[in-house]
Amino acid sequence: MGKPTGFLDYERKEPGYRSKKERLQDYKAVELQADDKETIIQSARCMDCGIPYCHAYGCPVANVIPEFNDLIYRNNWQGALDILLSTNNFPEFTGRVCPAPCEAACVAGINQEPITIRQIELALIEKGFKEGYLKPQPPETYLQAQVAVIGAGPAGLAVADSLNKAGYRVTVFDEAAEPGGILRYGIPDFKLEKWVVERRVQMMQAEGIVFETGVKVGVDISFRYLKSRYAAICLACGARGPRDLPIPGRDYTGIYFAMDYLTQQNKRLAGESLRPSTEITAANKAVVIIGGGDTGSDCLGTALRQGARQVTQLEILPEPPTERDSSTPWPMWPLMLRDTHAHKEGGSRRWAVTAKAFIGENRVLKRVACIEMEWQPTPDGKGHMPIEKPGTEFDIEADLVILAMGFIGPGPSKLVDEIGLELDDRKNVKVDHTQMTNVPGVFVAGDMTTGQSLIVHAIANGRKASDGIQSYLEKQS
Ligand SMILES: Cc1cc2nc3c(=O)[nH]c(=O)nc-3n(C[C@H](O)[C@H](O)[C@H](O)COP(=O)(O)OP(=O)(O)OC[C@H]3O[C@@H](n4cnc5c(N)ncnc54)[C@H](O)[C@@H]3O)c2cc1C
Repeated sequence: MGKPTGFLDYERKEPGYRSKKERLQDYKAVELQADDKETIIQSARCMDCGIPYCHAYGCPVANVIPEFNDLIYRNNWQGALDILLSTNNFPEFTGRVCPAPCEAACVAGINQEPITIRQIELALIEKGFKEGYLKPQPPETYLQAQVAVIGAGPAGLAVADSLNKAGYRVTVFDEAAEPGGILRYGIPDFKLEKWVVERRVQMMQAEGIVFETGVKVGVDISFRYLKSRYAAICLACGARGPRDLPIPGRDYTGIYFAMDYLTQQNKRLAGESLRPSTEITAANKAVVIIGGGDTGSDCLGTALRQGARQVTQLEILPEPPTERDSSTPWPMWPLMLRDTHAHKEGGSRRWAVTAKAFIGENRVLKRVACIEMEWQPTPDGKGHMPIEKPGTEFDIEADLVILAMGFIGPGPSKLVDEIGLELDDRKNVKVDHTQMTNVPGVFVAGDMTTGQSLIVHAIANGRKASDGIQSYLEKQS
């Protein structure tokens, strides 16, 4: 390594966040970025650890982390970037919003603070853009076979980018007005500003990839037509079927799914048109977010910026421990309490609570009736199940409820039915080890096959689908 004693000489230092007061006034990125000098120091903390679990176990795209850290320490940013881009198509996305399983698996993290891998990755890719190391590189020649990708989220973008680099002409179709999937329409700007997505899309266009947006495959254009035009097709349509809460009062006005709420705010900021009759806003409202995960936290940050009067986030699971739980020892992804920046901005959280009914007047939501839950071992002793605690009923004022309880797979899909794709027991599309479905030449990547996951998994899965498509096309030719 560049500095064998770096992990002893330097402490982990994160670039931090803009002040709470300042960031609540706008939707701009809340996290700051490390400068070159600090990035070099932080990369020097990477140990010569022998077996880099960050790379081999933690990172789903198998980023070659020790090697790029070493080159950064030696001030060879271009070399470091080449290594990073050899495994990750879009470090500017993962560098901003990946939960960084690599850091949870960092060897230094066994008995001290792990290396700031995510922030180093971000500093590296941004330096690459700034210094012009990253330039559009269209393939010199194209092969004959053409591929259609349906869905321009991170999985579809990774498939398209990898195939284009390998010399296949790719057209990406997306029903939305702009490419990006959840990167553009789900994740709030305060985590990922949309110029970052736009910059990458422009780079891909300059490299020869064609985007056809505003086209819903299966409605505006038939799958049969695509099949006749393209040698292979990859579906990367996501898994956005939201989990509902069918309790009394569910049909009252004022109850929405998280993705509908977040998508609207992102469209509003992007200047996309919204129908005033369908606008959802938290301004001056008492908001209850049902679901204590990251999507719920994105809703919290959004509601606070919209001027909510109060926000409560409810979670059915018990409060996790503040330190890594013994059930998830290093190098596993730790079960532990996580406070996002949104939790530090305001609102309150209640754990081990479930909503029992929505209470309204004239079908307009007013309150949420709740009860506390106790998690007891299941009869077979293999898990835990929630039991209502008698006498703990309470209710919370609510003018707006946002349901952020996760996703149930691709949801009802006319396209999946039309093509006749087999599903697994979790209602995700079933694929073989090459990401091919039961229909020859039809591949699937991302959440549509894994279930709602992470951007880094979508990229990894997209790269795998690209490999599968290339082997398939080579055999066909
Ligand atoms: C609110 C929210 C916040 C998240 N935050 C994070 C985060 O901070 N970090 C992280 O790592 N992960 C995060 N995730 C998870 C991550 O965004 C997803 O795992 C990832 O986007 C999946 O990528 P994908 O390409 O498979 O699907 P998507 O991003 O869902 O993209 C699917 C695309 O397919 C298009 N499409 C669907 N059907 C059709 C059709 N018939 N015709 C044409 N186009 C179609 C859609 O318009 C969409 O653009 C978040 C998820 C949500 C919901």
